This record gives sequence, C-alpha cells and structure tokens, in this order.
Amino acid sequence: MLRDSFGRLVDYLRLSVTDRCNLRCLYCMPPEGIPLKPVEEILTYEELLRCVRVAVSLGVRKVRVTGGEPLVRGGVVDFIRRLSAIPGVADLGMTTNGIGLAEVAGALRQAGLGRVNISLDTIRRDRYAEITRRDRLPDVISGIDAAVREGFSPVKINVVLLHGLLPGEVDDFLGMARDKRVEVRFIERMPMGCLPSEGYVSADRIRDRILSLPGVREARSEEPSAAVRYEVRGFAGTVGIISPISRKFCSDCNRLRITADGRIRNCLFARETLDLRSVLRRGRGDREVAAIFRKAVITKPEGHDLCAGGGSPATEPMSRIGG
Ligand code: SAM
Ligand code: SF4
Repeated sequence: MLRDSFGRLVDYLRLSVTDRCNLRCLYCMPPEGIPLKPVEEILTYEELLRCVRVAVSLGVRKVRVTGGEPLVRGGVVDFIRRLSAIPGVADLGMTTNGIGLAEVAGALRQAGLGRVNISLDTIRRDRYAEITRRDRLPDVISGIDAAVREGFSPVKINVVLLHGLLPGEVDDFLGMARDKRVEVRFIERMPMGCLPSEGYVSADRIRDRILSLPGVREARSEEPSAAVRYEVRGFAGTVGIISPISRKFCSDCNRLRITADGRIRNCLFARETLDLRSVLRRGRGDREVAAIFRKAVITKPEGHDLCAGGGSPATEPMSRIGG
C-alpha cells in the first residue's frame, strides 16, 4: 500500500497520454497551442502499461486516462483494453473534451472503460467557439449522448467556471442534468494556464442557485469525492460543485499523476516532478520503478497554498499535466 507522510492512502493514478489537443481552451492553451514535446519524449503505451502494472502491485486501484486530449492519440481504444485487463485495475476512467467520443464510445465501453468525464463549459454554440476557439459543440453533445447510451456510469460533465460565466448558463446546465443521465460538476478555475488569477470565480453563487431548486438535497457519496453533489427531484442526473480553492480537499487527496512526457507529479501544484521516463528507459527493473512511485508518495506535499485570487500558479500547462 502507498501511504504518504500525512497518512493518506494513495490509490489513484492519472495518466496523461498526450500533450496534443484538438481544442484551444482559453484557460488551458494559447491560440497557437503549446510547444509540443517530441514524440520520442512521450511515454509509449507499453511504458504506460508497465507503470500501471507496477503501481497496481503497490496498491493503486483506480486509473484515469487524460491528456491533452486522449482521443487524439492513435490506438487509445486498444490501450484501454490492455489497461482494463490488468488485474487490480478496479476502476478505469477517461477525461475527454468529448470530440470524437460519439464514434468510439461503444468501442471504449467494450474495451473496459467504466467512467467518462466530459469537459464542457457552456452549451451555447457561440460561447463554446469562443472558449475553445473551435466550433465543435454539436460533436460534444453527440459524444455525451453516445456515452449515456453506451451505459458509462457515471457520465460526468466538467464545467470549469470561467471569468464571466453568464448567469443563464448555470440554468442551461441544470437543464442538462434534468434531461440527461449525467452528473454535471461545476469546477472553480485554478490560477494556472494562460489566464491571470483575477479570473477566479467562486462556486458559492452557483451553490446558492442549486440550493434554490425545489426538491434539492445533498447526495450521499459511496466513495471519497472532491465534489459536493446534489440530487434534485425530477432530474435524470445530478449536479455537483468542486471548489479546490474556497473549500480545499487536499486532506482527501489520493492521487499521483504521470505527465505525457513521463514525469510523476505528486500534486497538481508541485514545483518538482520525478523523472520516471529515465528509470523506464535506462532498463531498470520493476523494483526501481516501484521505488520512484514510493518516493513520489512519501514526498507528496500536505496541500497546495492557493487562495482565492492569489497563491502560486502551477508551473506547467494543464494540457501536459492532464487536469
Ligand atoms: N482534454 C481533456 C479535457 O478537456 O477534458 C483532458 C485534459 S484537460 C487538461 C482536463 C481537465 O482540466 C478539463 O476538464 C479542463 O477543463 C481542466 N482544466 C484545464 N485548465 C484548467 C484550469 N486552469 N483550472 C481548472 N481546470 C482546468
Ligand atoms: Fe484541450 Fe482539454 Fe486543454 Fe481544452 S482543457 S485545450 S480540451 S487539453
């Protein structure tokens, strides 16, 4: 078992499988994109599978595939099939922008993917094109519908609260949770990426709106969750709020991240990362791979020092870390 120096059990690994993306979200990437790592610096699927096997032998049971945009990397369905076949991977999820999901949702489900998180910050087509710099909203909606149809459970919709979220857009998403079997989660934007921290918007305003709905009640979660979830009478789905800044959840953090270029990041906001790729490529045995995971866990910081409107921004773009 991987237990950090603050007693937290670390059993969740997030894999960024690419730093490439087909969108250019305002808060994540500049219009021209970020300088991409050369392909040879990106971990191969074989290397990622080996990392997961070792991590599982140490007690990891939950794995999430992210990016960049994971669906733009060739062979991702087969990778999911191989990941899900690793004994001990009890919970396998993906975070995606949903573009292209309609075409592969069935194949991903069959390959053993259980959960899918789809990032979507507005359901107004013009706003979507503004925020992501691409006019692809209909593809995302088809992706969400396909994910629900294929029986992913849950299908989460991640809404990053941007500076200037229009009040009516909260209701757009409440409408989505009413009509579709999805879990809409409003997420406070973290001061990283390309926008200054003045863009920070508290989730409290949204919480007030949710709590004003008739028949609303806080949902009980069976597992530790960063989100506070609400069920609303008559809704097919649920709504939730993630507030990494105004309500810190570091004390429950159970995660390690592997960046697309093979570094272990033990906190989203850590200044230092551990060079896993060199260990993998120097022909070291699994014992040494395990040792670097242990080191990442033992040096995991207690928490971040962000506060609303300030704090230390993360040192690299989310598209490389994976969110
Ligand atoms: N491309 C995929 C997607 O958008 O879902 C996966 C990678 S993306 C980096 C993962 C998540 O990070 C997305 O939900 C995105 O909204 C979120 N994200 C990116 N930049 C962020 C920021 N500055 N603050 C909070 N969340 C951010
Ligand atoms: Fe791409 Fe996801 Fe970043 Fe948007 S948030 S630019 S979809 S990696």
